[in-house]
Amino acid sequence: MRTLLKGVPHALAQPVCDALLGEGIESRVVRPFTSFAGYGPTPPAEIVILNDDETTRALSVAAECVLALASQPAAEAEIDLSKLPPALRVACPACERALDPRLAQDGTIACACGARHDAIELIVNQHGPEALESCTESLESSGESPTLMHATVKCVHCGYELEGLARRGICPECGKDYDKAVCVLHPYLAAEFKK
Ligand SMILES: [Zn+2]
Ligand SMILES: [Zn+2]
Repeated sequence: MRTLLKGVPHALAQPVCDALLGEGIESRVVRPFTSFAGYGPTPPAEIVILNDDETTRALSVAAECVLALASQPAAEAEIDLSKLPPALRVACPACERALDPRLAQDGTIACACGARHDAIELIVNQHGPEALESCTESLESSGESPTLMHATVKCVHCGYELEGLARRGICPECGKDYDKAVCVLHPYLAAEFKK
């Protein structure tokens, strides 16, 4: 058993714990004992996990949950149309010209006939959802969390915004190792995880 997070605000503690349980990670919300139980604001909680081996995954799940609660954009940015097979074309529903969906701007394809279409909608309608696999494949195969990949979090060492960078890496500003999950959770991390 290990304390994963400390001083977690009431509003975060239970959702994070639920997210961990949802991923099969046994966890509990622990509230420090207070002699004035029932009075004043609910004290911040600790989150413990029962199996130490799951720490890395638990940090990742907890970070994603915290990000989701902060309503960071995620799902929209997960499809990278530039990774479509170069030969893939969709037909303009208005004039039937063949269009290259990789040229879509902000997800919209403009046809020479003047019509504009949602690129993902055309691909799914004409080629099925599996045609988008290549656009998300690299994230999945590398085990990266799309939410964390696209999250704008600050380097815990220097405050640099790590936008669009990998889940883990070297901060381009200060040159130290970063882990976005740790950055997100930093205010609540148990001391042993803070470097
Ligand atoms: Zn057209
Ligand atoms: Zn830095």
